[in-house]
Amino acid sequence: LIAFVFTVCITVGGLEAAARQKTIARRVDSVLKLMTLDEKIGQLNQYSGREEVTGPESDKSDLVQEIKAGKVGSMLNVRGAVHTRRVQELALQSRLKIPLIFGQDVIHGYKVTFPIPLAEVASWDLPAIEQGARVAAIEAAASGLHWTFAPMVDLSRDPRWGRVMEGAGEDTYLGSLVAKARVQGFQGKGIGNTDAVMACVKHFAAYGAATGGRDYNSVDMSDRTLWEWYLPPFKAAADAGAATFMNSFNDLNGIPATGNAYLQRDILKGKWKFTGFVVSDWGSVGEMVNHGYVRDKYDAAASAIRAGSDMDMESRSYITNLSKLVIEGKVPMTLIDDAVRRILCKKFELGLFDDPFRFSNTQRETELVGNIQHRAMAKDMAKKSIVLLKNEDGLLPLSKNTKTIAVIGPLVKSEEDMLGFWNVGWPDNSDVVSQWEGLQNKLGKNTKLLYAKGCEVKDTSRAGFAEAVAAAQSADVVIVSVGEFRDMSGEAKSRADIHLPGVQEELIKVLHATGKPLVVLVNAGRPLVFNYTADNVAAIVYTWWLGSEAGNAIADVLFGDYNPSGKLPMTFPRTEGQIPIYYNYLNTGRPAPDDDKPAGYRSGYIDLQKSPRYAFGYGLSYTSFTYSDLQLSKNAMYSKDSVVVTFKLTNTGKVAGEEVVQLYLRDEVASLVRPMKELKDFAKLSLQPGESKTVRFVINKEKLSFYNQQLQWVAEPGHFSLMIGSASNDIKLKSRFELKLSAVKQRK
Ligand code: BGC
Repeated sequence: LIAFVFTVCITVGGLEAAARQKTIARRVDSVLKLMTLDEKIGQLNQYSGREEVTGPESDKSDLVQEIKAGKVGSMLNVRGAVHTRRVQELALQSRLKIPLIFGQDVIHGYKVTFPIPLAEVASWDLPAIEQGARVAAIEAAASGLHWTFAPMVDLSRDPRWGRVMEGAGEDTYLGSLVAKARVQGFQGKGIGNTDAVMACVKHFAAYGAATGGRDYNSVDMSDRTLWEWYLPPFKAAADAGAATFMNSFNDLNGIPATGNAYLQRDILKGKWKFTGFVVSDWGSVGEMVNHGYVRDKYDAAASAIRAGSDMDMESRSYITNLSKLVIEGKVPMTLIDDAVRRILCKKFELGLFDDPFRFSNTQRETELVGNIQHRAMAKDMAKKSIVLLKNEDGLLPLSKNTKTIAVIGPLVKSEEDMLGFWNVGWPDNSDVVSQWEGLQNKLGKNTKLLYAKGCEVKDTSRAGFAEAVAAAQSADVVIVSVGEFRDMSGEAKSRADIHLPGVQEELIKVLHATGKPLVVLVNAGRPLVFNYTADNVAAIVYTWWLGSEAGNAIADVLFGDYNPSGKLPMTFPRTEGQIPIYYNYLNTGRPAPDDDKPAGYRSGYIDLQKSPRYAFGYGLSYTSFTYSDLQLSKNAMYSKDSVVVTFKLTNTGKVAGEEVVQLYLRDEVASLVRPMKELKDFAKLSLQPGESKTVRFVINKEKLSFYNQQLQWVAEPGHFSLMIGSASNDIKLKSRFELKLSAVKQRK
């Protein structure tokens, strides 16, 4: 009965949605019929602006006149219930009164700032990641926004690329699940609700594979690599119902993504049947001129619209050229209509034609933006994002009865840097808990906290070392907080040198020389290199940029009120020379490139250790876990079957903790060289001391498939190695099974 009711509900739900879409399509057509060519093109035009449309002089601005004339379809960077209302009123003065869509880069929170996206992925906690996006959407929508330019789902294997902070790391499987979670979080129960915003999946496509990790650089990539590693997170986001996509600055195999019909028309709107609209990246339509791909903005507009870019962000190529292109017969009206339809459809789905001000509600804004419950959730997420990299002799957690703690480093008292790149606007969201404040909140009067800055993040002055050493010498324990400024990882923040900047490692060295127990906190937007610290310091905690509640979350971890459970979503190199470095490298035919045995004739460098500093999936806990009793339901399966994998996980330590157990597979012999291991499943489990749980994974054909040479998604018969581990380089249990041709095929 339950199954029946469920099916009926889904069918009714499906029918209702279909009927709603039909009504919307009818309404869109009725608007489209009324529109002049110029009005249509206005819908495809998006500008950024705040002062020009809301400031005291705005009455005279050209932008305001353009909005009133129906020449703008969407604005970015206008936010706040009052401002969005005011600008919407301008749009309603246009002939057809078509409302604007307001978009903004709400990447990891609006006022309450969550950890940077990469840090959140270290939690491997999909419901929490979804909730992070949910909170961002609730606050943004209450502030008049309809649209966020997130999630960024670009896979990246290069920590020099500044935008790794904004993504989900290096793995396709994990990245796809995160992409789905984030879309669901932003869009909630659907974009018609006033607590949801449209997601914008970006940057389509392969932006994260920029040559040498240099932002905006070219991408030259085989179709197979594109399909197998880079596209799946986009597909997962599209399947999750993402309302919009953003294309990209980079060229892919010589064709700028913005003018790339293969990406936008054939794949996204064709094969994947995406019904939303595509916005260009900032100025990227016009930038095709700079690429030397088109002669001028006239040609750029033609190229972009033909390729499937529906909305022009900021380049003015559409608004100044499209109408001429249509009149001259270079761009068919059907293409314009299709783009306009897609955009109007979202305006209807958002409910803006029924009530253009439904998102601009000051009461909701006051109630929800910066809400105290959101802060609690941000703190929870921040704790989950922290990765414990080293903890010799159980130095951590520290005792709350420690008499004197020296807290040293350039980031101890920083608030702004805790927010990371892409926050909606410092100082609007300035109530950040610094690490200093977090420690004060945590500790009672019995503990004395000493502070010394020691050095700056970037400068080379060692003038503060003496004071720092003196503080360390009078303390029982030393906490050192180092890392990057918040604008050292992010857009246009690629770095060739990803060592801990300035003299920060030297500071750590002189503090280590005091002989005092040292705990190092590394705050950064990407994997950094810190070999001295990794080799010598007893405890290292990777704290990324954790957002509004950074200090409280870190204090919870340092003093054992939260047992760290994060695992790295990217490989940490020992030095830049190892980049690109990632766990799922192909089988080179030579001994594994991450195995540190003497070089010989193997793949690697004779002057570098081959293993990474910290592997993908790595992260410690204050407790210990054992893995045992691995069982497979069968050791051979046909492609319609599945193999059920079970094993026992036991918390063998003294405190409760969470473990992210990871399942990796390797296709032993295939028609193409395959990775040595690939993540295919994982689970996060919480266990009391002494407790055991049985973990169960199901392996089906999907998990065994890859794109073959003909770009078909296939599972080839043969043996697969199965590895269960607590990190990609810490495999605890191994087995093997076979995928057999179906009985029928075999008989043939
Ligand atoms: C970035 C996008 C962003 C856009 C709007 C561009 O420079 O690449 O990710 O959404 O600006 O701010």
